[in-house]
Amino acid sequence: NWVQVREELRKRVGKNNYTNWIEPLEFSALKNGVARFSVPTSFFGDWVSRNFSDQILQHLLRAGAEVERIEFATAPVTRPQKSAAQPASAHPASPATGTAEQDAPERGPAERPATEEEVPGAPLDRRFTFDSFVVGKPNELAHAAARRVAEGGPVTFNPLFLYGGVGLGKTHLMHAIAHELQLRRPDLRVLYLSAEQFMYRFVQALREKQVMDFKSLFRSVDVLMVDDVQFIAGKESTQEEFFHTFNALVDQNKQIVISADRAPSEIKGLEERIRSRLQCGLIVDLHPTDYELRLGILQQKAEFYHSQYKGLVIAPGVLEFLAHRISTNVRVLEGALTRLFAFASLVGREISMDLTQDCLADILRASDRKLTVEEIQRKVAEHYNVRLSDLIGPKRVRTIARPRQIAMYLSKALTSRSLPDIGRRFGGRDHTTIMHGVKKIEELMATDSQLSDDLQMLKRALQG
Ligand code: ADP
Ligand code: MG
Repeated sequence: NWVQVREELRKRVGKNNYTNWIEPLEFSALKNGVARFSVPTSFFGDWVSRNFSDQILQHLLRAGAEVERIEFATAPVTRPQKSAAQPASAHPASPATGTAEQDAPERGPAERPATEEEVPGAPLDRRFTFDSFVVGKPNELAHAAARRVAEGGPVTFNPLFLYGGVGLGKTHLMHAIAHELQLRRPDLRVLYLSAEQFMYRFVQALREKQVMDFKSLFRSVDVLMVDDVQFIAGKESTQEEFFHTFNALVDQNKQIVISADRAPSEIKGLEERIRSRLQCGLIVDLHPTDYELRLGILQQKAEFYHSQYKGLVIAPGVLEFLAHRISTNVRVLEGALTRLFAFASLVGREISMDLTQDCLADILRASDRKLTVEEIQRKVAEHYNVRLSDLIGPKRVRTIARPRQIAMYLSKALTSRSLPDIGRRFGGRDHTTIMHGVKKIEELMATDSQLSDDLQMLKRALQG
């Protein structure tokens, strides 16, 4: 019984491996000693086969299954042109090459040689689709740009560079592009992977003296998506290779999508020529979520859970409360809701405010807004349309000095930092300078209602 075996495997392979690789496996059949599983992508099957098939086999045997070997195949839904029983091939066969097809039936996928057919990207999360992506003000541009790329039409901007903080949906959007392209343009070779995996592959190719293969693989794709590119900053030879791959693809008018946790101009250790090439495309920023977006995401999730945990009632105001209180990142927000539903179904109670506060006490405490001076500076700079570097720097013109004092004031009012501490974060200013700035704003506020309105607004924006 697969469910039991899976439980055993959970203990063996560790939680992350389990959720990433074992849980998504769907048992399809056991016939003539061959246990078949369907997998979301062929790379996924390959990976599981290489890393876990021994353990899976062992546990199946231990559970009394009459099994000799295991096969992994992509599910027929995503690969309509193949039957589920056939071993995975990373890409729908093109008429020119079809070697994997012919070789496969006699062999387990583990021994199957890599062929030109393989586009070994990282596995895609099936849940990360456009359908499940909630669009709001903070991400509408990124979403629109991703949609455009996913149409698979002529390349209009290259690369698409998505950036933003942790948990704001970069990876989700990239996977959504890949899924959509699989449906609309199954003829395209789409490769998604993280910059870390890119480096790892490259280093491996160097070691095994297969750099030519590596190069030709990466140059043969139609759409290349590299996630978290900040990772290769400072890694010289990987950057070099990335740069060449990038140029080769752009020259062939192939679409590239890149994500990072910050703008190209802010990634340290990135070569200038790469930076400037990145800047040739469309750079889109995923902004921190706002209340509406968080609520939208929670509502979507809650609807899903409603269908899973039938009969669970969620009291009015709970989602609003969560959207208000958990403003860090979407992953935490989702985690909170998951736990809440699981807990409520376990104890068989309505999801009330009380239950919510009990069940999520730790998350709520941790996300009690710990505002940083840096966030305040960013916000103030944005609000007054001055550069962050100027805000912190030495310029004394009033258009900059006033916003600077406002940022000082807010830092004092909204964080628990000491004056010398704040001073350090304002380009190493003395604590008396900070004190002066704070006083100045307090004085002005008393008479300048425009300023005090502004401050109210900034405070609200900062505190979510
Ligand atoms: P990033 O790559 O930017 O760190 P992810 O794409 O991994 O973030 O997103 C983290 C989690 O939040 C994922 O589970 C993702 O599905 C979810 N998420 C983020 N933004 C949205 C959104 N706009 N709608 C629905 N889910 C979202
Ligand atoms: Mg990510």
